[in-house]
Amino acid sequence: MSQPPNPWVTALAQFDAAADGLHLDDSLRQILRSCKRELTVHFPVRLDDGGTTVFRGHRVQHNVVLGPAKGGIRFHPAVDLDEVKALAMWMTWKCAVAKIPFGGAKGGVAVDPKKLSPRELENLTRRYVTEIALLIGPQQDIPAPDMGTDAHVMAWMMDTYSMHRGYSVAGVVTGKPLSIGGTLGRLEATGRGLLYVAQEASRRGLTRLAGASVAIQGFGNVGGVAGRLLAAEGCRVVAMSDSSGGVHNEHGLDVEALQRFRQEGGKLAQAPGGDHLSNEELLCLPVDILIPAAMEGQISGANASQVRARIILEGANGPLTPEADAVLAEQGIVVIPDILANAGGVIVSYFEWVQDIQSFFWEEDEINERLRRVIVRAFADVKNLADERGVTLREAATMLGVQRVAEATLVRGIYP
Ligand code: NAD
Repeated sequence: MSQPPNPWVTALAQFDAAADGLHLDDSLRQILRSCKRELTVHFPVRLDDGGTTVFRGHRVQHNVVLGPAKGGIRFHPAVDLDEVKALAMWMTWKCAVAKIPFGGAKGGVAVDPKKLSPRELENLTRRYVTEIALLIGPQQDIPAPDMGTDAHVMAWMMDTYSMHRGYSVAGVVTGKPLSIGGTLGRLEATGRGLLYVAQEASRRGLTRLAGASVAIQGFGNVGGVAGRLLAAEGCRVVAMSDSSGGVHNEHGLDVEALQRFRQEGGKLAQAPGGDHLSNEELLCLPVDILIPAAMEGQISGANASQVRARIILEGANGPLTPEADAVLAEQGIVVIPDILANAGGVIVSYFEWVQDIQSFFWEEDEINERLRRVIVRAFADVKNLADERGVTLREAATMLGVQRVAEATLVRGIYP
């Protein structure tokens, strides 16, 4: 596949379309188009062989008008400032669409974590947190897991920050292990949110669920959990992939067996249970539901016309470009956008932060039920606006997010 499109260009194009739809004035456009803070750090990490390597990391806060900045930390070789800025802007709109009192942020380090030993990964994490410590904090900016990071990395982040303070600060990150103030339900939250959105789409006649064929690109936290929950709901998960490629079986894959295969170090390009296919082929399968749950820019002007799914549920952030959106809308393919579909992660992160602050923890049923209520209400808000304005769900979701942040900006006024 050719070089993926620049996600910051995608994020700005989506923002501009929403700003046009809202007739936003130029000064508000300028404010909301810009990232408030962009920090780039270069830092050395000691490796197991005694040498050191200098890594580049970023933390960007796009907007903090609605509350503390919130957004994940990505460890991936392709991380760069434009990608982090785009992911931060999408977080701002996502929190506003879900009506949770957070602004948008994102961070990352350009590194392949699979090439580091556990000790090297810990060294890198602790040093990166120290470098961005001037921005983060439970009232300022709260990181969480994203691609290449997990609960263990969050534990090192929380511990490093707490060591600098001299006391435990559980609320500085979310997605932590339960034993140090994590919440029940966070590990599954993004995939579970996708399930609730799919159920709502089915209730509204946009797709079916029982017997529906599903293809999922990316077998990580988001894609793996979504696959398992959708299969339990009666869907036929016919294809799944990771960065090596994928496996395909029209009769349905055994998602839990594939999960075990992956945990034992297997790559899906060699997985049992079906024929093998490339990531490009997976995106073009004729399925009821396609879930891109890996990287940005996977469906662009170059391949959108070959997509044959009935609906696309965006598990990843920014998997479609504006050119792809236009082609898919023309073909009548419904896209349920990232800032609505994958909001389950940040919604349950918000619940984790609230529980940490209260030092009072909820039962899992209660968390899942609250998640369902918040995401179903967000779906209704987006769908109503889309119907009212005759626009796509992405346009409606972005307009809703931008409008809520614009309103808060106007009410607060410009300092001084
Ligand atoms: P992860 O690291 O757990 O898994 C990523 C998966 O994608 C892996 O299976 C990897 O092999 C695969 N992958 C990587 N590059 C690929 C490529 N080029 N083609 C196909 N597969 C590829 O990451 P995750 O947390 O599941 O995040 C996936 C996406 O979902 C990202 O866009 C992330 O920003 C978004 N997201 C994550 C969360 C969360 O809570 N973790 C929440 C909202 C959105």
